[in-house]
Amino acid sequence: MSAFEKLGLSLESLQAIYGLGFEEPTPIQEKAIPLALAGSDVVGQAPTGTGKTAAFGLPIIEKITKDSDHIQGLVIVPTRELAIQVAEELNKIGEYKKVRTLPIYGGQDIMRQIKLLKSRPHIVVGTPGRLMDHMRRRTVRLDNISIVVLDEADEMLNMGFIDDIKFILGEIPKDRQTLLFSASITKAVENLLKQFMHEPILIKASQRNITVPSIEQYYLEVPERKKFDTLCNFLDLHSPEGAIVFARTKKRVDELNQALNHRGYSAGAIHGDLNQGQRNMVMKQFRSGNIEILVATDVAARGLDIEGVSHVFNYDIPQDPESYVHRIGRTGRAGRKGAAFTFITHREQEQLRVIEQLTQRKILRHPIPTLTDALAGQQRITVERVLKATNEPVSSTYKAIAENLLEDHDSVTLLATALKLLTKEPSTLPVKLTEEHSKPKKPRQAKPRHRKRKRS
Ligand code: ADP
Ligand code: MG
Repeated sequence: MSAFEKLGLSLESLQAIYGLGFEEPTPIQEKAIPLALAGSDVVGQAPTGTGKTAAFGLPIIEKITKDSDHIQGLVIVPTRELAIQVAEELNKIGEYKKVRTLPIYGGQDIMRQIKLLKSRPHIVVGTPGRLMDHMRRRTVRLDNISIVVLDEADEMLNMGFIDDIKFILGEIPKDRQTLLFSASITKAVENLLKQFMHEPILIKASQRNITVPSIEQYYLEVPERKKFDTLCNFLDLHSPEGAIVFARTKKRVDELNQALNHRGYSAGAIHGDLNQGQRNMVMKQFRSGNIEILVATDVAARGLDIEGVSHVFNYDIPQDPESYVHRIGRTGRAGRKGAAFTFITHREQEQLRVIEQLTQRKILRHPIPTLTDALAGQQRITVERVLKATNEPVSSTYKAIAENLLEDHDSVTLLATALKLLTKEPSTLPVKLTEEHSKPKKPRQAKPRHRKRKRS
């Protein structure tokens, strides 16, 4: 039984989250969902990127009754981007329960929104200003709301929305359930929850102290669309002997694995959808060196006995800081040198700080390797291979060919050409992975390279 199944969710919701590729609840989800389902007011404090949307989204969707035409759930968010993003995630989570969510935000034509509101959404996700606007026009009525969520409460208060929020909450029936999510519980947030919540239960994402193996830890700030090329440049630059790449969902693991193979790397995927036999097969190939790169989700990699990994790449920063420790613990075993590289997008800065706090270790910023760096790395590797091979006997036929060639050709040109032919030049073919917040698109795959990259 997966940990999601222990939270008391309906089959439809479970189906939806597995469809999204979530394997296990994040700590905040694990704590918040059962409490919210039981009807408590909940205050959830956890840093960005820890899955707070589903933490409130799942309970809110479970509470919607289908035989009502009114708006039953309201989510208040600080920005238009968040309104769109949260509504998108709620629509995905509510897909099988057929729960409809509509975002309402400033900047979009209000007449268009009024028309969309006539389609009777069950949940509205709105920014405070635009919500007030609709309330004044009576195009949004709050008298049937049974559950309200304040998302990024600290942010909303910082932006000066306090009066709007108080007004909106004042218009919602008192017997409602109220959930509040925030990265920090500031004084202002505390005042708000004292005034508007009923015996709220405060939960925090766990922050136990754990020790970290002594390996080099770096982070790179990379936008989502550049992650894949950055990873490839890294692989070319370092040519790791055994690397693990961690990604957030099963879907991303599959896509990443495919894209890496298309670029000519030998990669294998490990995630929860594979049966034990399939996993064993991939692991066997990895141990024997037939696969150089293992692409995995956290859950799949847990409990795997992996040795001698030189590099761990966190293609996606882990949701749970403790997962970070598990992930990087894979490298540097048995006295070997290891390094961990974590890719973060701009908005994930804070999560990195939480990890640093938990591990009491500084994670250093690493420059993003360029194609030129990658090529230089490959050239260095070719030279190393050639030099190493000169220690081994070479057949007299090759020597005769070499002597012949040298009679008519310049030795530098000959050697340079041979080196060029032996060097795997970094590929630049475009690859696009599905981003989690966009509609699932078919990944645009690079053409397969004929030559499989082999470990020398
Ligand atoms: P927060 O609101 O805490 O900043 P989000 O709810 O936006 O975080 O979640 C961040 C990302 O993690 C989203 O892409 C979301 O789809 C994904 N996510 C959420 N819960 C899980 C989970 N249990 N397993 C895997 N990915 C998850
Ligand atoms: Mg959020």
